Amino acid sequence: MSRQKRRDTGPEMQLRRTLHRMGLRYRVNLPLPGMPRRRADVTFTRARLAIFVDGCFWHRCPRHGTDPANNSSWWARKLNSNVARDRETDERLREAGWNVLRFWEHEDMSEAATRVAALLSELPGNTSSTRDDEKDGNTYEDKGASRE
Ligand SMILES: [Zn+2]
Repeated sequence: MSRQKRRDTGPEMQLRRTLHRMGLRYRVNLPLPGMPRRRADVTFTRARLAIFVDGCFWHRCPRHGTDPANNSSWWARKLNSNVARDRETDERLREAGWNVLRFWEHEDMSEAATRVAALLSELPGNTSSTRDDEKDGNTYEDKGASRE
């Protein structure tokens, strides 16, 4: 996985490793359908499940989000627009028939992986058939996306 970018941070990697160990196969940093400039951290294309691991600061976690004192109005605008974009992304994905899971980076990633697996087992196109997800995946594949 040499072409990984800045998004491969601790909690996200932990989630991916755990999912992988559970035998689940997914795509990484795949552009979202209809939103080519936005990417999910982990995507199950056949199950149409997009997963995000949100940073506590940048996405304003209720427990750890802070308002920087310097430049506070700039930061407020910046962080609020991140949050608004998250909600808009969720909405557009759901309208397109996708499922969305978001975790905070502070969450226990093995619990997160358990929730992912539970949801996948309820969705059509679940894990038993994800091995041949190339057909779907290629629809919005680009160079930045990678497969695990
Ligand atoms: Zn947090």
